[in-house]
Amino acid sequence: LAARLSDPSLLATKAYINGEWAEAASGNTYDVVNPARGDVIATVVDLDRADVARAIAGAEAAQKDWAKRTAKERANILRAWFNLMMENQEDLAIILTAEMGKPLAEARGEIGYGASFVEFFAEEAKRIHGETIPGHMPDKRITVIKQPIGVAASITPWNFPNAMITRKCAPALAAGCAFVARPSELTPLSALALGVLAERAGLPAGILQIVPSNDASAIGKEFCENHTVRKLTFTGSTAVGRILLAQAAPQVMKCSMELGGNAPFIVFDDADLDEAVVGAMACKFRNNGQTCVCANRIYVQSGVYDAFAEKFAEAVRALKVGDGFEGAEMGPLISENAVKKVKDHIADATSKGAKIHVGGNPHDLGPLYFEPTILTGVTQDMKVSQEETFGPMAPLFKFETEDEVIAMANDTIFGLAAYFYAKDLSRVYKVAEALEYGIVGINTGIISTEVGPFGGVKQSGLGREGSTHGIEEYMEMKYMCMSV
Ligand code: ADP
Repeated sequence: LAARLSDPSLLATKAYINGEWAEAASGNTYDVVNPARGDVIATVVDLDRADVARAIAGAEAAQKDWAKRTAKERANILRAWFNLMMENQEDLAIILTAEMGKPLAEARGEIGYGASFVEFFAEEAKRIHGETIPGHMPDKRITVIKQPIGVAASITPWNFPNAMITRKCAPALAAGCAFVARPSELTPLSALALGVLAERAGLPAGILQIVPSNDASAIGKEFCENHTVRKLTFTGSTAVGRILLAQAAPQVMKCSMELGGNAPFIVFDDADLDEAVVGAMACKFRNNGQTCVCANRIYVQSGVYDAFAEKFAEAVRALKVGDGFEGAEMGPLISENAVKKVKDHIADATSKGAKIHVGGNPHDLGPLYFEPTILTGVTQDMKVSQEETFGPMAPLFKFETEDEVIAMANDTIFGLAAYFYAKDLSRVYKVAEALEYGIVGINTGIISTEVGPFGGVKQSGLGREGSTHGIEEYMEMKYMCMSV
């Protein structure tokens, strides 16, 4: 992997703690594997709870000075970090594809997207405004200030190894917090490369700690039980989110949770079908179906069902599957379990009457590859209507009326992203308002941007990331009441 990089020093394998590149006290390490080929690409340190406790203590010590700096000073360092990310976009993308498998073009896109949070929150640092409120008595003056919450800690998944970290740590650092990031055990290299660049950008020692560990649950416990950690921010499954919330409860810790989705993607009979196909392709097959905002259930109104299925099938058949370094549009899935889930959803649906329209089988490229698949005749009693497939399988449900599809779309414990295609303006408003989701894409399949508040309702999460709202998650309000 180092040989592919124009700057091999971006390939860091030790933990970044207190401005130093550290081994685990135990000396333990673990292997990082490339999912496209199954070969070991790096061996990284494997920290335990005590190592991470040391990183948390270092973050606490460093945070006080960081918070006292002017917003402009923090902004300048974040801006320098953003510039370095963009200057090293290609190398960062190569590291990302190597450890995670997504096509190189998508990896480049993720680096740009990840960096955009650093740019945005560098700007936002200067716009943390308080309030003055007219007093409730003649002698009272009321002021509200916002202060950094202190040390924040993150646990992030493998599907966006760069952007899931920057969208949490950029607002935290802008607000004046120190940040301890535990990347997914599957993708620590992208996180560590961010550490290399943060150091070069002049971020003071201890403000960003990057702590790779193969033992997620031990580190999760340390984050929740260590009283120095004042904020936990997590992206991952709802199942793990529940565990972390329960663990954080005794400490009444402030938590942000970006959890699972079960996104409906609705095509109404007045939709532009060609545009709906473009949106569905991007929304379903990007990252091989492994994003929490991927369309999981595609509802098509009966009058356009067959026409949509045909156009969609044509686009899906043209998808090129392969190694992310070799021009593929779809890479391997992340693990054998991921492949198993796709197979399980297909088997369940077909046993209950769904038909395979395209694909449906493991791909002959290797054990982690799966054919992009479309099922037709899918109904609400099938597993895919309740669970996220997180893979390249698009199930087409048929519906008749607006009310019926809104009820079906909302019939889930999840509420992250929803999408629909329609032209009638009153329908657009009515449906957008009725969908119980944190994000609604209307005539578009791509909704992620640093300027919009990303997050879910129901069991898809707590809090928002990105936009001016994203920085609030890392601050506390203090209300000062003074008698004059
Ligand atoms: P995904 O399906 O995206 O892997 P997970 O919720 O399983 O979703 O994983 C998201 C992140 O949470 C990963 O970094 C993983 O290592 C971590 N994780 C998994 N189990 C736990 C746990 N019990 N406590 C803390 N973190 C965990």
